[in-house]
Amino acid sequence: MSFYENTLKNMNKAAKIMKLDQETLNVLSHPQKTLIATLPVRMDDGHMEYFEAYRVQHNELRGPFKGGIRYLPSVDLDEIKALSTEMTFKCAVAGIPYGGGKGGVSCNAKKMSEGELERLTRKYVQAVYQIIGPNHDIPAPDMYTTPQIMAWFMDEYSRLVNQYSPGVVTGKPIEVGGSLGRGTATAQGGAYILEEYMKRHDMKIEGIRIIIQGFGNAGSFAAEIFHGMGFTVTGVSDSRGGLYNNDGMDPFNIMKTKKEKGSVQDSDEGKPCTNEELLEKPCDILVLAAMENQVTEANMKNIKAKIILELANGPTTAEADEYLAKEGVVIIPDILANSGGVTVSYFEWLQNQQAYYWPIEEVEAKLKRAMIEALVRILDFQNEYKCTMREAAYISAFDRLDKAKKLRGSGAHLRCKIYHDK
Ligand code: NAD
Repeated sequence: MSFYENTLKNMNKAAKIMKLDQETLNVLSHPQKTLIATLPVRMDDGHMEYFEAYRVQHNELRGPFKGGIRYLPSVDLDEIKALSTEMTFKCAVAGIPYGGGKGGVSCNAKKMSEGELERLTRKYVQAVYQIIGPNHDIPAPDMYTTPQIMAWFMDEYSRLVNQYSPGVVTGKPIEVGGSLGRGTATAQGGAYILEEYMKRHDMKIEGIRIIIQGFGNAGSFAAEIFHGMGFTVTGVSDSRGGLYNNDGMDPFNIMKTKKEKGSVQDSDEGKPCTNEELLEKPCDILVLAAMENQVTEANMKNIKAKIILELANGPTTAEADEYLAKEGVVIIPDILANSGGVTVSYFEWLQNQQAYYWPIEEVEAKLKRAMIEALVRILDFQNEYKCTMREAAYISAFDRLDKAKKLRGSGAHLRCKIYHDK
């Protein structure tokens, strides 16, 4: 099953449980607009390379399209459609007035120089600028796209439309219209949700062992935040592999080594293992913060964690999800668990629109309130429908989307054909 089929399956299950209007389900089962472009980029050695790029605008019933851009060799239309669809549901779960979109370029960002990345980003903006904008579609960072890339994005867009437009993209550096707290927002939002969930289930933090897959924006801050909260971080990993120590590790030391030497595996805080082994190590909470399709039919029976927090998008396949639910494993689903990122992106956009910037205390207090409200609403739906948290999260989103669709009428879901700009 592809990532997009997996997403449709999650939607269909929830729609059936809540007896959703079939027309609303039909509307949300197709992206509104898809743009595919081939970007010619001059590489440092003088040759021209061509990169396949995408922007999928899934749905705008509740507001402008919103969602990140990833730079990854595996990027394809199926993946971007799935992520774009998830964004519509995530924004609805978080109660923020956006629809869903996503973009990506199939490239190996890790092997590209700063100059090549800048030229690629500017070319991407040239390909999409006519269909995005601060009130229409607002991209953001995702895998291998950094605040610096967002700054180039904003600069190129502002130049093309001849107007300073910080609100066209979020996740920017503070100096060019970024928000305090955006860097840590995805991890911090997940931490607020986990803390509240544990409080409501009388669980103490002390002695809880946590393993975190992925050590980028979401995973590294998650490791540092959970360590600071008193959890015992026993495992971490990046694309090279895992690092494990049952007695606990200091993620700040691991980050220092990763910056100096390149990988978490270079740290002497623990012993190296493979990524596959790490997911199957004994722990209480498994945080998935790398990428999609990590817990699958192949390893689901070996997962020891009792709680899975999905900071990544789509890390658990539908088969594994069903199996783990039957085994009593609680999965705090992606569209809730990582919605802190888009929530602070929304705060950044609000600050850009007002040209007035908030102190960190205000950002964090508003994020905490939004995360707890989203969780409580989902727990209420879970109680009402006696379903999993993932099903309840989709129900929470469908409930808002269905109301918006009925209020707006039938014009609000125009579909366009694929536009290929060579
Ligand atoms: P990132 O590029 O900053 O980091 C990705 C990390 O995952 C890196 O440490 C990389 O080495 C590691 N990785 C890649 N493949 C791996 C593998 N097979 N096993 C273990 N580690 C692997 O990306 P990010 O922004 O942290 O995004 C991670 C996930 O979180 C993605 O699914 C993304 O869509 C999701 N997400 C991110 C945000 C955000 O604000 N950054 C918000 C919501 C969701």
